[in-house]
Amino acid sequence: MATAKFQALRGTRDILSPESERQRALVNTFAEQCHLAGYGHIMSPIFEDLGVFLRVGESTDVVTKEMYDFEDKDGRRIALRPELTASVVRAFVQHNPPNLPWKAWYEGPQFRHERPQAGRYRQFSQVGIEVLGSDDPHVDVEVIALGWRFYESLGMQQVTLLLNSLGDESCRPQYFTALETYLRDRAADLTEAARETLEKNPLRVLDSKREQDAAVIAEAPLMVDHLSAETAEHFAAVRSGLEALGIPYEISPKLVRGLDYYTRTTFEFASTALENAQNAVGGGGRYDGLAESLGGKPTPGIGFALGVDRILLACDAEDTFPAPSTVPDVFVVDLTGGGEAVVVTDRLRQAGISADRGFDGRSMKAQMKVANRAGSPWAVIIGENELAEGNVTVRDMHGETGQTLISSADLVTELSSRLGR
Ligand code: AMP
Repeated sequence: MATAKFQALRGTRDILSPESERQRALVNTFAEQCHLAGYGHIMSPIFEDLGVFLRVGESTDVVTKEMYDFEDKDGRRIALRPELTASVVRAFVQHNPPNLPWKAWYEGPQFRHERPQAGRYRQFSQVGIEVLGSDDPHVDVEVIALGWRFYESLGMQQVTLLLNSLGDESCRPQYFTALETYLRDRAADLTEAARETLEKNPLRVLDSKREQDAAVIAEAPLMVDHLSAETAEHFAAVRSGLEALGIPYEISPKLVRGLDYYTRTTFEFASTALENAQNAVGGGGRYDGLAESLGGKPTPGIGFALGVDRILLACDAEDTFPAPSTVPDVFVVDLTGGGEAVVVTDRLRQAGISADRGFDGRSMKAQMKVANRAGSPWAVIIGENELAEGNVTVRDMHGETGQTLISSADLVTELSSRLGR
């Protein structure tokens, strides 16, 4: 009987080298930029008490329909995180760090039971930042700018920043009433799905991508026209901060984002290099009420999450940020049985020279074929005569300087100089 072969589950994927090296390089670039801006790294658990997420998004698909939740062996309700803001704010409330604003960055996998398609997976990766403890609009500018500069550093040029303000408790209730009244008046023209959303959260009706809802949404009252003086001033300060940095933005009055907790500044980064449906490469906003709703003191906060998988698709489309080279500096060909290559590769690696080698005592021809495939600029060849005399041959694999016999003791110095180190 044939043994069943397993495959990665639908919506998940194995990321092999060199694409995996590319993801790691992306995260390293992000980490560097966060470090430059004074953000500390937070590593929180991949699973949390289900309540953490229920508290933050009871009317959203991400929480109600797409969450991987389960009962563990102790009968607790657990969820694999669908996003990291809730976890980070939970951690903030739990540890109550003394120095505010508290600035944290993160990276890692998220889980959402969505319908898989290009750029939409059930396990995907995000990088992000959160700042808690200040509602200074300059924080909003710093956060948005960090995202923008990050895309720039990857060489992405086709990113659009969409910006909106969702108001706060000083103006949102009045706006909600106006919006709800309007949508109820026009309910007959909405889709069944939009009418259902209206019952749960009128604001999210604006998020509908269905054609039939478009006409109603087009005439809906907008939050940006109903901002209180204070919220409008905050929003203006965010905009002028972005202008001072030369970061272009588009006001997008219907941008409501996928989670309930957003207040005031909200934003999304869209790539015009990607198909419309899957073109969001990141997004975020203020969540001034979130810490409190997770049992903490009232603490303003803002952050963003950027989709790593999707950023790399956009980089492909823009032909930028290629995978870093995984070609070893040196390939060692040992024709004496392979034992000497053990010692030589170890010496090279200890000296910071990357080295791969042939195995299985194969012929010169077979090992040279592997060396060629590896693409290393230099090969070290160990033959019986060389070994007996304490020598090795260094061969220029790209053919310019041929090959040289050198003393084995000089190998590290010789290769370092040839590699320009
Ligand atoms: P969100 O918090 O839903 O706005 O997610 C932030 C970013 O994560 C999005 O802009 C996407 O780039 C990315 N993202 C969200 N969901 C998925 C998914 N299912 N697969 C891949 N990337 C995703």
